[in-house]
Amino acid sequence: MRLLVLLAGLTGLPLLAADADRPKLIDAHVHYNGDPAFLAKFLAKLESVNGQALLIAAPKDIPAIKEFTAAHPGRFHGLGQMSLDHPDALKLVDEFHNAGFRGLGELTGPEYPFDDRRYWPIYERAEKYGMILLFHTGIVNRRNFAEPMNVSSDRMRVSTLDLIARRFPKLTLIAAHLGNPDYEWAAEIGRWNPNLLFDVSGSTLYKKQADLTFFKSIFWWDNVVSPHTPKTNVSAFEKLVFGSDVFGGEIAEFDRELDLYRKLLAACGVAPASQENIFSGTLAKVLARQK
Ligand SMILES: [Zn+2]
Repeated sequence: MRLLVLLAGLTGLPLLAADADRPKLIDAHVHYNGDPAFLAKFLAKLESVNGQALLIAAPKDIPAIKEFTAAHPGRFHGLGQMSLDHPDALKLVDEFHNAGFRGLGELTGPEYPFDDRRYWPIYERAEKYGMILLFHTGIVNRRNFAEPMNVSSDRMRVSTLDLIARRFPKLTLIAAHLGNPDYEWAAEIGRWNPNLLFDVSGSTLYKKQADLTFFKSIFWWDNVVSPHTPKTNVSAFEKLVFGSDVFGGEIAEFDRELDLYRKLLAACGVAPASQENIFSGTLAKVLARQK
């Protein structure tokens, strides 16, 4: 890097200056808890790692997020938290878009499977805006055991994203939690859908911490010649992007996830260039394309 800076100085190449500004980390999955003190703390965290984040925020927080992102340009990108079953869903999508939000999420707790046709107009509108959609996939927590809830993990199976990815090719989908526990399904539909990425936040890397090389059998296809597999030199692990799932102001989760991701990628021998894409490069490209 020092050599590059030196060369840049000698040749005056602006490209390399831009390279130094590139984020080292983009966190695809941060929940805003509505407390402005959280924003200030998380900003300091991002600045310390030259990072950016997709920040999940409710409609009521639109003014606060707009103001904060304007004050700290390029650090946060809004994701609009909404229910797919909201009676005014399309209006909400417009509202988030008009406020400069780059996508929607975390989409969770739908009354019908994610790929149900009733939701297609929402996906269509989001596609028109070139949005990123962050879906909760797989097993979901149950917070209040006494309260009846119309929630099922089965409606959020990662395989329901296959149809959405194919039907709406200009959407970028991020399946949070790698479909826990449907990892095989996640990777296989990811193999065929370039617009589908994953984060592996949540309990998965805790569950598998004694068996991290397991993921080599999930992301198996680079350098493997097989019928009908598109030829690629790109590591299959590049289907992953970094996501911390910081929730309820619990910023410590950011460092824990970062550590777990690093252990996973080291255990699976993922090359440094691919790791760069996983931690920031892939999402940087998506965000640049959207503009
Ligand atoms: Zn989730």
